[in-house]
Amino acid sequence: MDTISLENRTRSAALFEEAKNYFPGGVNSPVRAFKSVYGPPLFIKEGQGCRITDEDDHTYIDFCCSWGPLILGHNNAKVRDLVTETVAKGTSFGTPTRLGNELGKLIVNNNRYIDKIRFVSSGTEAVMSALRLARGITGKSKVIKFEGCYHGHVDSLLVKAGSGLATFGESTSAGIPRAFAEETIVLPLDDRKLLEETLQKYSDDIACIIVEPVPANNGLLLQDPSFLECLRLKCYKYGVLLIFDEVISGFRVGFEGAAGYYGIQPDIITYGKIIGGGMPVGAYGGSHEVMSHISPDGPVYQAGTLSANPVAMAAGYAALKQLLEPGFYEGLEAKTKRLADRLQAFALRHDLPMHVQQIASIFWLAFTRDRVVRADQIDAASMEHFKNLHRELLRRGVYLGPSGYEVGFVSAAHTEQDLDEAASIMEKCLHMVFKTSK
Ligand SMILES: *Cc1c(COP(=O)(O)O)cnc(C)c1O
Repeated sequence: MDTISLENRTRSAALFEEAKNYFPGGVNSPVRAFKSVYGPPLFIKEGQGCRITDEDDHTYIDFCCSWGPLILGHNNAKVRDLVTETVAKGTSFGTPTRLGNELGKLIVNNNRYIDKIRFVSSGTEAVMSALRLARGITGKSKVIKFEGCYHGHVDSLLVKAGSGLATFGESTSAGIPRAFAEETIVLPLDDRKLLEETLQKYSDDIACIIVEPVPANNGLLLQDPSFLECLRLKCYKYGVLLIFDEVISGFRVGFEGAAGYYGIQPDIITYGKIIGGGMPVGAYGGSHEVMSHISPDGPVYQAGTLSANPVAMAAGYAALKQLLEPGFYEGLEAKTKRLADRLQAFALRHDLPMHVQQIASIFWLAFTRDRVVRADQIDAASMEHFKNLHRELLRRGVYLGPSGYEVGFVSAAHTEQDLDEAASIMEKCLHMVFKTSK
């Protein structure tokens, strides 16, 4: 098979050099800079179905899918048609629109875990608003988050555990006042004892616990469902609100997200990514009671010039409508499981230190032998394997997100044939990376 050498990415390389004149690091979001893998970032000019094409005219089977939003693949015809029809009538009015109602109704009527929803323009904005809502309702200010969960670039959540047990967070970014970081308590996932101790000690100050119920931003740290149930019960016990950050898992592990997948009722749920059908949309929702605290009904202020933008609502509506077709999620999960099982069997057969973690249409290659459930179980040194694998895959036409901590997404546009082709390429590349004999 012909391979694409890194040296052949000349147009992408030139565009990246140019971009460095305009944007910090040449990018508008940091992981896009390819710092953890080889070569310049690919500049993509087109996507069709499960494939993307770069400026050098190389085509790749895409498992990044715009970091999750594209569960229907690229350039879905129904999304494109409704967006085109909508945009022809104008792009923004700053008023309520019928399309906003349509998307709101579609979501609320098909999700048993929320009664009302508020649209915003990104996942970060959804999380930031959900925290304010939880604080506004409880009158308390501290937040518990978990190591290995990502919630966007919200100031008080860009924190990691400090030293010592259950200490307050240390910021992971410059520019965050210490007072903000001190409002956040960072705990390890899957540690019920520490959770109980922390709540016992600080529950008078804790507004909410926020968790990615399917932690998928630092590898795929699938939790035992009983840990999530434990969070629910302890929140009731201590008068703390439970926020499920479903920006990735919402509409991905099922139309009702992880709440529906695990059958757990959080107090507030945040959405993003898939909800906008590839356009910038975020949202947060909850019960009538919880949402009545939001302005203009209640005292918790939150607003947005482009919130519920009609073109974005059109994309979201056209996308989500397709997810409700019977068998949609079952088909997607079966395809993904088949891919994951094949890769796992390959790893076992060749005795590779690789564990394939998978849920619904999300998969992650952990370069360890055992299942990983906490951030501290990920071996940073193993990322070198990913870096090499990423290079070999790019040379042969498979695109994974450019960091070993990123998960892969399978879309409805990936056929079994596409996945078989990708799996064969992945096996070949794993042979090269681990220098096994064939
Ligand atoms: C992507 C993501 C966010 C941030 O969303 P943006 O739209 O990038 O601001 C927040 N939480 C989770 C769980 C995410 O996956």
